[in-house]
Amino acid sequence: MNRKLISIFTNETELSIDVKQTLTKQLVNLGYTVMSEYSRDADLIICIGGDGAFLETIHKCDFPDTPIVGINTGHLGFFQEVLPEDFKKFIKEYENGEYTLQKLSTVKCLVTTADGQKNTHTGLNEITITGRKSYSIHFDISIDGKPIEKFSGDGILVATSAGSTAYNYSLGGSIVDPRLDLLQVTPLAPMNTTAYRSFTSSILLPSELTLGIVPESSENRIYITNDGIETGYSNVKEIEVRTSDRHVNLLRFNDYDFWNKVKDKFL
Ligand code: NAP
Ligand code: MN
Repeated sequence: MNRKLISIFTNETELSIDVKQTLTKQLVNLGYTVMSEYSRDADLIICIGGDGAFLETIHKCDFPDTPIVGINTGHLGFFQEVLPEDFKKFIKEYENGEYTLQKLSTVKCLVTTADGQKNTHTGLNEITITGRKSYSIHFDISIDGKPIEKFSGDGILVATSAGSTAYNYSLGGSIVDPRLDLLQVTPLAPMNTTAYRSFTSSILLPSELTLGIVPESSENRIYITNDGIETGYSNVKEIEVRTSDRHVNLLRFNDYDFWNKVKDKFL
C-alpha cells in the first residue's frame, strides 16, 4: 500500500509538543511520512493546539484544500476534533475512512487605496474593519452596490458561519450552524444619531452578496483584522467584503455534532 504524507503543526505548549512526538512515532511505525512543514503533496494536515493554533495553521498553509484535523490541547476547541487521549482511535478511523469532510466557507475583503493599490485578506472566522483605538469610524455601507446605511461606531465585523461562535458571539451576534452558507454582519458599538444610522443588531447575508464600504474622506487610518491578524491602512478608497472561493476541509468523525459542541462550550 502506498503510505501517505502527513504534515503536523503544533503550538508551543508542553502538552502539544508531547502529543506531537508520540503521534509522530506511531504514524512513522505505521509507514506514514511525517513532516513539520506544509507540502502541497500532503494527504492530511494535523494541527495540535486550540482554535487559535488551528487558525494559525490555516493561515500558514494559505487556506489549503488538503483535509485537516485538529487535536485539542487547548480549551474546548471548536475546530479541534480529536482529544489527545483518543488519537489511537483517530488513526484507526482515519485509516478506515470512517470520517466525513466538513467544508467550511471563508470570507475575504478587497481593500483599494486612493493610489489604486489592491490588497486581499481572507478569514476563516471573520474580518473586522475598525478605526484608531478610542475613535469612532465613519463609513457608508452598501449591499450589492445599493446604499444601506451610514455607520458610525467602533466598526463592523463580518463573520463566517464557522466564526459565528468566536468574536461575533461575544458582540451579541447569532450562532450559525456551519451547514448554512452565509455572512453575518455585526456592528461594534454602533452610534445612532441624526447624522448616522445603522442597524443595532447583526444582519445575515446570503453568500453571493457583496458588502461595500466607503470610508468618509476624513478617515485616515483603517484597520482590517482577519482572524486576529491586523493590517493598518491609510487613504482607503473602498473595501469589498464577500464570501471567498476558498474552503477549509475539516475531518469530522461519527460522533461530531455541532450543536453538542455549542452546548458544551456555552451552556
Ligand atoms: P485569542 O484572543 O487568544 O482567543 C480568542 C478565543 O476565541 C479563544 O478562546 C479561542 O479558542 C476562541 N475561538 C477562536 N475561534 C473560535 C471559533 N470559531 N468558535 C469559538 N471560539 C473560537 O485569539 P486566537 O486564539 O488567535 O483566536 C483568534 C480569534 O479570537 C479571532 O478570530 C476572533 O474571533 C477571536 N477574538 C475574540 C474576541 C472576543 O471574544 N472579545 C476579541 C478578539 C478576538 P482556543 O482557546 O481554543 O484558542
Ligand atoms: Mn488563543
